[in-house]
Amino acid sequence: MALIVQKYGGTSVGSVERIQAVADRVCKARARGDDVVVVVSAMSGQTNRLVELAYAISEEPVGREYDVLLSSGEQVSIALVAMAIQSAGRAARSFLGYQADIQTDASFGRARIESIDASRIQRALNEGAVAVVAGFQGTDSEGNITTLGRGGSDTTAVALAAALKADVCEIYTDVDGIYTTDPRIVPEASRIPRIAFEEMLELASLGAKVLQTRSVEFAMKYAVPIHVRSSFHEAEGSWVVPEEESMEQVVVRAVAYDKNEARISLLQIPDQPGVAHKVFSPLSEAGIVVDMIIQNDSQRSGHTDLTFTVPTADRARTVALIEEANKRLGGSGIESDADIAKVSVVGVGMRTHSGVATRMFAVLSEAGINIQMISTSEIKISVVIAEEHTDKAVQALHAAFKLDALA
Ligand code: ADP
Ligand code: ASP
Ligand code: MG
Repeated sequence: MALIVQKYGGTSVGSVERIQAVADRVCKARARGDDVVVVVSAMSGQTNRLVELAYAISEEPVGREYDVLLSSGEQVSIALVAMAIQSAGRAARSFLGYQADIQTDASFGRARIESIDASRIQRALNEGAVAVVAGFQGTDSEGNITTLGRGGSDTTAVALAAALKADVCEIYTDVDGIYTTDPRIVPEASRIPRIAFEEMLELASLGAKVLQTRSVEFAMKYAVPIHVRSSFHEAEGSWVVPEEESMEQVVVRAVAYDKNEARISLLQIPDQPGVAHKVFSPLSEAGIVVDMIIQNDSQRSGHTDLTFTVPTADRARTVALIEEANKRLGGSGIESDADIAKVSVVGVGMRTHSGVATRMFAVLSEAGINIQMISTSEIKISVVIAEEHTDKAVQALHAAFKLDALA
């Protein structure tokens, strides 16, 4: 008998039929004798609708109310899933984030889970019920409802699996595993049967939406095996596991892209000590996460351009926040562009193989795509390009690194 956490994403609970399919799968696991905790997202499209409503009412919705609104989608699905399981003949009990004692910090819209007291869930399991928990939400120390950032139900599931010491965390979604790139862009992409935590962490943080980044961090920290699979059939999906020796033989494992960043440039600011601090400290105080940063060579003029990226949603706020610093520094202006994309290649094999960057630049040059920014780390190379070229870049890189032949 195992303890399994099963997380179902939006499409997997998107209709009455899909919810009944969830109940069937849960009941099969119960019939095998397994204890099951189900974590669910809002029905597909619902969270987007709520975001639109919020912005139709207010240009800058207040975080606390925004999270009360956004968390409501999951309340609907836990109730429906619990009812479906009951109709299929098994005991089930639904839990909102606070009822499952999921404590977070107070960063509305992107809260981090700080602790989970799983005793109430454990009690439900001991009584023979399936616990159906709302993903994506928790409460801060004041009892305010918080949400965990888009895609946050993955993190609820893995964190619960860690707290309950579950045998596995199954992530049911609309693709049948983790692919060498987004199969919506490259239909020939191949499923990766086993992927290292570290590679998955990079992929997730570079935009592959199949798992939320925080969920992979939790899995890595608490050694929770994740099985990403389709809710539409029974086939085996992809396992996210500790690194295995054979994994380094593959140099590039996957290609990721992210269209949710904006590029910001401060033009012709003085090249002096303290400048970067003046520019970036207001941003860090405002909780804005800066990703890539480049500074041009300034040897001749004593002036330089400073370019960086932030999440698109923070673009306007960022420009407003650095205006003051730009004025004080006597810079010649601020430019910003949201029509960019970051495209990355990832693989633990890059640690021991060279030449990937050169190859990547050659492929993009052959495709006539201009590179605006570059950043590298031990196991990834990222470039910023114009957003309109995203699909072409991903397809060209996927083909050049022969990823369709991997599996
Ligand atoms: P859910 O609602 O089930 O959480 P998401 O939409 O958040 O599902 O994540 C699944 C989607 O992630 C897939 O439909 C796919 O388009 C996208 N995706 C992006 N990169 C990858 C990848 N490397 N492998 C699999 N899916 C990916
Ligand atoms: N419903 C939330 C979202 O759409 C959380 C999730 O699906 O994981 O982002
Ligand atoms: Mg998701």
